[in-house]
Amino acid sequence: MRLILLGPPGAGKGTQAKILVETYGIPQLSTGDILRSAIAARTPMGLAAKEIMDRGDLVPDHVVNGIVSERLDKDDCAKGFVLDGFPRTIPQAEALDGMLTDKGMSLDAVVEITADADVLVSRIANRAKESGVARGDDNEEVVRYRLNVYREQTAPLVEFYRGKGLLRSVDGMEAVDTVTEAIRHAVHG
Ligand code: ADP
Repeated sequence: MRLILLGPPGAGKGTQAKILVETYGIPQLSTGDILRSAIAARTPMGLAAKEIMDRGDLVPDHVVNGIVSERLDKDDCAKGFVLDGFPRTIPQAEALDGMLTDKGMSLDAVVEITADADVLVSRIANRAKESGVARGDDNEEVVRYRLNVYREQTAPLVEFYRGKGLLRSVDGMEAVDTVTEAIRHAVHG
């Protein structure tokens, strides 16, 4: 199963990706998590990415494209994967197409998790409070900025993948279990 989860920050991509990992025994490829690990490990890539991420902007396409291409070559991706947070721009989606073609892989579905912007701002504020982990980009001002970045740079992917016949949309405002069921249905028809 090769899936992409698409949706604004706070829509529940990470939560649903972890459930898909359990259900299908496939890895979650989260570019956000990989970048945060690089920051924690103080690698040159992490140091360069930190400032960009903290202000809510996107890390350059060539950086994340490189991360994903390398990750897709690992053995655990042979059975499939769930991409969470990538692609986030049309050039990233085009790069992914090229990578998958080169590696002889194809996508099964792109699941869009839709959500209401105001609810997202409060969800992310709660996530920041509950986890107690300070994520530099989880304060309200940066979240609103990230939502704009999503609208401008990532939302066009909905039409991109609709055009390829891969898009499925689920309502991310429902309870976690309901969303999981909707994804199951969207993927299996
Ligand atoms: P969320 O799902 O809450 O938006 P992520 O963990 O997916 O958070 O991403 C956090 C930040 O990491 C983004 O705001 C961006 O700076 C960077 N990032 C993650 N994935 C990408 C990507 N595919 N392209 C560019 N930047 C990315």
